[in-house]
Amino acid sequence: MMTLHNHTARCNHATGTMEEYVQEAIRRGVTIFGFSDHAPMLWDEGYRMSADEMDAYESEFFALKAKYADQITLLLGYEADYLPGKTLREVFERKVDYLIGSVHFLGDWGFDNPQSVFGMDEFLQRGLDETWRAYFAAIADMAASGLFDIVGHIDLIKLFGHYKGKKPDDAVIAALEAIKKANMAVEINTSGLRKTVGEQYPSEAILREIFSRAIPITFGGDAHEPRYVAGELPFAYDLARSVGYKEAAVFEARKMRLMKI
Ligand SMILES: [Zn+2]
Ligand SMILES: [Zn+2]
Repeated sequence: MMTLHNHTARCNHATGTMEEYVQEAIRRGVTIFGFSDHAPMLWDEGYRMSADEMDAYESEFFALKAKYADQITLLLGYEADYLPGKTLREVFERKVDYLIGSVHFLGDWGFDNPQSVFGMDEFLQRGLDETWRAYFAAIADMAASGLFDIVGHIDLIKLFGHYKGKKPDDAVIAALEAIKKANMAVEINTSGLRKTVGEQYPSEAILREIFSRAIPITFGGDAHEPRYVAGELPFAYDLARSVGYKEAAVFEARKMRLMKI
């Protein structure tokens, strides 16, 4: 099993040392484990590492990669937002295995953060449909930037349960077309199972659209605590196989490779 989406205490909202994540992954039978902590940017600084922490993050990673080389394949990445004017060019110049591109903000609104000053009414104030469309337009823009390898939690906008049962619409399809054009993979991210929505990202209906376009998938637990490193991965693998996937993507030095699942 692989999981390419994992955080570390450096983002200030995760716990556990990097070594604890690695040891838990080995214990749970993970064979390919990627760190993808929140990259620094000039925005929302409290929820990510700072630019001067990148060196320490990467050197700690390389020490663990060497130490555990005979037990597990470790990969290095970042999860980054695409927010023009707020991203740091240095992040996109790091020598990593992959970058996960995620949308956590619509303008100034950090919609997935229950502690955001906007409060939970913001979804209704902006309109559920408008918010959905703005979110998937931002996913399409992120893909079109060409800066990323993996789409993070592609339908994160549903996390609080506002869109139960919503079918993929033209906003979703436009985003998938941009993703296809950018040769990106989409992760099956299991963290949604622990949120109000109680469902992985993407929904099965969106995953079927992804499969029908031959867009590669990868897997991520989005662990912010070592104990979540591998919990729901077998479920995610079963889901992928049930829609028809026989392979999943891993990245090394920003090159995609497909592996049998
Ligand atoms: Zn996080
Ligand atoms: Zn995220």
